[in-house]
Amino acid sequence: MNTPTPAQFEFSFLEEGFSARDIVEQKINESSMTDDRDAFYVCDLGDVLKKHLRWARALPRITPFYAVKCNDSRAVVMILASLGAGFDCASKTEIQLVQSLGVDPNRIIYANPCKQVSQIKYASAHGVQMMTFDSEVELMKVARCHDNAKLVLRIATDDSKAVCRLSVKFGAPLKACRGLLERAKELGLDVIGVSFHVGSGCTDPETYSQAISDARCVFDMGEELGYNMNLLDIGGGFPGSDDVKLKFEEITPVINSALDKYFPVDCGVRVIAEPGRYYVASAYTLVVNIIAKKVIMSEQSASDEEDDGTNDRTLMYYVNDGVYGSFNCILYDHAHCLPTLHKKPKPDEVFYPCSIWGPTCDGLDRIVEQCSLPDLQVGDWLVFENMGAYTVAASSTFNGFQRPDIHYVISRPAWQHVQQICAQGLPAPAEESHLAGVAACCGRESSLEMPTKPCHTHVA
Ligand SMILES: *Cc1c(COP(=O)(O)O)cnc(C)c1O
Repeated sequence: MNTPTPAQFEFSFLEEGFSARDIVEQKINESSMTDDRDAFYVCDLGDVLKKHLRWARALPRITPFYAVKCNDSRAVVMILASLGAGFDCASKTEIQLVQSLGVDPNRIIYANPCKQVSQIKYASAHGVQMMTFDSEVELMKVARCHDNAKLVLRIATDDSKAVCRLSVKFGAPLKACRGLLERAKELGLDVIGVSFHVGSGCTDPETYSQAISDARCVFDMGEELGYNMNLLDIGGGFPGSDDVKLKFEEITPVINSALDKYFPVDCGVRVIAEPGRYYVASAYTLVVNIIAKKVIMSEQSASDEEDDGTNDRTLMYYVNDGVYGSFNCILYDHAHCLPTLHKKPKPDEVFYPCSIWGPTCDGLDRIVEQCSLPDLQVGDWLVFENMGAYTVAASSTFNGFQRPDIHYVISRPAWQHVQQICAQGLPAPAEESHLAGVAACCGRESSLEMPTKPCHTHVA
């Protein structure tokens, strides 16, 4: 195992009886006393723990390998490393990040089917063996540049019902798989399994069962060719909040029964997944401030006698984060973000049709095309929940607008629970491989010691 370097990030403990939402209020109050009023995040690391426990309950056979690209914050990666998760890394930098936290290379899958040669060499030199491929050219690169790769064949899925489609870019069609496996054999490479990704924002759980059944076919081909096929990787795409059409617990029974049918427990195949958004979306709340406002009067309403005053105007709010920053998820991840109000509206509050815009000078920088909000003022706050996935990870500082600060919080019981899992693993039903993960994680125990300072704490 690599020598761990200290995990460095700051977080605060939630005092008893306080929630992350209370911290949002507290930060708003602090900030409202100054002129800054910069946008900021509150991240509840306890929410990541909750997701992990929920995962273990719903998908007890499947070890999560967190997809780092979704949110590469050290705090999130460290919590997940402590919980015994594995990691899906797509680049040298992501591998470096995960390994800098002391994660053993056998808990990493290099899940990018199209890799740069120098990065394959990097993986080889750092003990990362599991990696995906979906083409013959990739096989030749790996044969040349890696000493001991354990290859996973990424197959295409029917992602026509997903919001973010991936199988145009990645995944071998079923009919190409036998040829690829034969080629791998000729090159003397080891193929250990199959992976897929149904696409993100999947709206039909049958996509998973179809893909699992396709994977079974490819397993059979591999076994015919003499490979010891022992890893099934069912990818990501699990929803990160319950604010979606198809909820997590509506998908998981479909997956479990497909696994029981095509990969029953006694077949000895290890099953992993690569959840990204699932783990982080709901942990992050983004708070933005209204920096400018326009009132657009409509012309017809003057003649409308019955008008209650709500139909005569449209409001445009300009806030201090936008699509070049945190809201890049609107462009890249097809996200729909709607604010909640910071102050509870009065019972007779009048709501107006509104649009919400980011701070840059680009006309594209629009967060919400249409929603309904009260008459807010410059300096007021808007709160966006579920902002942890594909937000901070891909944001830029275009036009000079800086990324919001992130305040990490966790309750003491949640922190203790994380440490307990790190030391002892999750209680049954445990999977065989789990013990190895715990051992690897607890080599770093000293970096996870209970901090002594009560509030603003450095984990070192
Ligand atoms: C992006 C990605 C994931 C994570 O997808 P989510 O929708 O965030 O779960 C998993 N695996 C691969 C290969 C990916 O590219």
